Amino acid sequence: MADCIFCRIAAGELATPLIHQGEDFVAFRDIAPQAPTHIIVIPRQHITSLADLTDPDLSGRLLQAVRETAQREALEDNGYRVLINIGQHGGQTVQHLHFHILGGRQLGWPPG
Ligand code: 5GP
Ligand code: ZN
Repeated sequence: MADCIFCRIAAGELATPLIHQGEDFVAFRDIAPQAPTHIIVIPRQHITSLADLTDPDLSGRLLQAVRETAQREALEDNGYRVLINIGQHGGQTVQHLHFHILGGRQLGWPPG
């Protein structure tokens, strides 16, 4: 989608460095990190939110991409958090499905 910021990042139209990528995903650092490591993983394909992710194979590949990305960032030993905000109550601000990977500090619970 031309007016979607994450589609533009996936297409290489912005100067956002990709820290990992595959056939159907890209990973990059969040512009406003909420933890020492804060990475966004997205499908290359424009999917608005988890509510629209109906392909079980793509779902599995995306989850593996998240795991691989966390492993590359050496987050496994101390642990990390993966979260997806969905819609208004979920606090989703970019309408292109994305996984947040947060790590590098002790995270609190519950979220606000
Ligand atoms: P949401 O609130 O939709 O779950 O998360 C969107 C995330 O995308 C936010 O954490 C925000 O900081 C990040 N973000 C928004 N625009 C950009 C951008 O242009 N570049 C990068 N790297 N991150 C962005
Ligand atoms: Zn998009």
